[in-house]
Parts: sequence; structure tokens; C-alpha cells
Amino acid sequence: MKKVIICILSLICAFSCLTCFSACGSNGAEGKSAYEIWLDNGHSGTETDFLNWLKGEGGTVTVEKCNHSFDDWEEILNSTCTQIGCYSRECTKCGFVQYNFTECEGHSWNDGVFVLQPNCIDNGLIIQTCEACGQTNSVVLYALGHNFVNGKCSICGELASSEQYLEYTLNDDGESYSVNLRPALRNNVTFVNIPESYNGKPVTALAARGFISCTELKQVNLPEGLLSIGDYAFSNCPQLEEVVIPQSVVSIGNNPFVFSKNTVVNVENNSNFNIVGGALVDIKSKTLICGFSSTEIPADGTVTSIGANAFCGNNLTEINIPKTITSIGRNAFGNSKLLDVYYEGTEAEWNEMQINEYAFVYNAVIHFNA
Ligand SMILES: [Zn+2]
Ligand SMILES: [Zn+2]
Ligand SMILES: [Zn+2]
Repeated sequence: MKKVIICILSLICAFSCLTCFSACGSNGAEGKSAYEIWLDNGHSGTETDFLNWLKGEGGTVTVEKCNHSFDDWEEILNSTCTQIGCYSRECTKCGFVQYNFTECEGHSWNDGVFVLQPNCIDNGLIIQTCEACGQTNSVVLYALGHNFVNGKCSICGELASSEQYLEYTLNDDGESYSVNLRPALRNNVTFVNIPESYNGKPVTALAARGFISCTELKQVNLPEGLLSIGDYAFSNCPQLEEVVIPQSVVSIGNNPFVFSKNTVVNVENNSNFNIVGGALVDIKSKTLICGFSSTEIPADGTVTSIGANAFCGNNLTEINIPKTITSIGRNAFGNSKLLDVYYEGTEAEWNEMQINEYAFVYNAVIHFNA
């Protein structure tokens, strides 16, 4: 009976030790006597006091010196992954019971099985199983986060928030924003995504010269809702590839693509602008805003004037100018390699045109139709 009581006592002690395995485990094979555990639990006194405590107040126990002779260790409580084990042995002479505790090892989790693979934005989940007891354990693998390379995630294709490389200016109406690229980032951005809105207001304008001299810029996404593209917005972006002008654009300033020799401009179903003969044309004013090396100025009357800087800085070496053209703007063929201009009308007709005095590079030769 006493043995059972002591064992219960010991187990209470053992569980109180669960928070301090090292203390329990450090006793090795020698183990601890119930008296020692009693002392560990904040009691003080002699072994006699302990025995009296066990028996209740007023009891008396006589303790004799004994050269204990223990029987074999006996398992009282199985150790599991999470529970301490308890062994006892009893002195065959005096009945003294000694206790020993084994530390629990903890679960032995396997590598687990993927239930969900983590991706850029969603957490993943692994279910592990304990190889000792079969218990399972959920392990959350946190989302990997996007890997933005020049504004685009290399893993999922998501476009980066543009905060880091775009600058916004509230327009005069107080209800919309103009946007430009931060000047400090002009040499290391290859991709620009312009959002439809910023700070709860639509982004409606690309600032004049807003993306000028972006030497590495290759791609730009313009949002639906954009109304205007400022003067020279993408000029001197030598690597800029295709630009699609959204349906919503109603105003385009002076050639936004001056010196952007590799740019291809497309227009998305826009009632104000169109691509005619390979050039960007303002439909209502019939002005050729931006021409390229491959442009052939249409002779059908859809274009009557060549805008300022329209062919400036491209690789054109010769150009046909139809009779339907009535004006040529400042610097329209400036800084180009243009050498020969073939006019489809007579010299007299040419002279009736409004031609800005700085329209051509000085060494271009004008060939008239005799
Ligand atoms: Zn003994
Ligand atoms: Zn286990
Ligand atoms: Zn991603």
C-alpha cells in the first residue's frame, strides 16, 4: 500500500518535472528516492519527517539503517513521445522503494507530405507523422513572396507595385494623377507598369518627359483610363519595344517617342488616334505625330501635316512626302539620317507648304516632281 502511495506521489513529482526534463533526466541509473523528490518539492526535514508526512500527522515510523538489497527495476509508467517514464525497485529487506524516471524523447517527425505547396502569396502546408507514435503535426510553410525582377514576378508574373519607381503628381482637378518615373531609377528599370489608380484616384496622365532617357526600359504597360500622354514622354528610350496606346487616350503631345528608335507603337481601338502607314496619327487633326524608319506617309489625305519632331532622331535615310501634306513642323526630320526627300508635287507646290525653317537637317536634298 505504501508503495502505491509513494508511486502516486512520485508521479505527481514527475509531472511537475515535465517542465524541467533535464533535472529529471540527470539522475541516471541511480535515480532519486521518494524522500529526495519530497525534498525537491519544497519540503524540508529528515527522512523520518518525510515518512511521518506520508503517514499523516501524529503517525510514528521507526527507521532502521539497512544495506538495501533491491530487486529488479520495474516499469510503472511507460515513457512515450510526450510522457516521462517511471521505474521503481524495492528493497527486499526493508521495503524501501527507489524511483527512477526516464526522459521522454519527443516525437520523431518524418519529412511529411505536402498538402499545399506554398506559392508567392499563399502559405503551404505539410502534414508530418511521428515515426514513433503515429501522431500527426501540421507545419505551415509561409508564402514565398514575389521575386520581382524589373517590376514583374519571375515566378508568377504578377506586376510589382509601382510605388518604388513611379512618382505621382496630383492634377489641377484634384481628382486625378499624373505619373512619371523617378529620375534616379531611369537607368535601371526595364519594365514599367502604370496602374489605373493611385491613392484612390485615377492615373490619367503621363507627365511631359516623364519617362525620358530610360536607357534600359523595354516594356511599358499603359492603363485603360489614361487620357493624355505628355510631350516627349518616352523619348530617348532606345530599347523600348512595343507601346500600346489605350482606347481612353484623348491627347498626345509632341512626339512621345523621339529618339526611341526601336519602339513600335500600337493603338487600341481609339477614336482619336490610329496607326497609318506605320506612323502614329491624330485622326482629327490629320497630324502625323510619330513616324518610324519604316513609315510611309499615307497619300490618301488621312495625314495632312507632319508634326513637330515627328521623325526626329530615327534611322530614316529617305522619305516620300505626298502632295496631300500641307505643313511640316519644327524639327520634324531633325537629328535623323535623312538625306533624300522625295516630294510628289512640284517645287511650286512645295513652296506653298507651311514648312518650319528647322524642319529638316540641313544636308537633306529635296527632290521634286518635275
Ligand atoms: Zn533496505
Ligand atoms: Zn510520437
Ligand atoms: Zn509571384
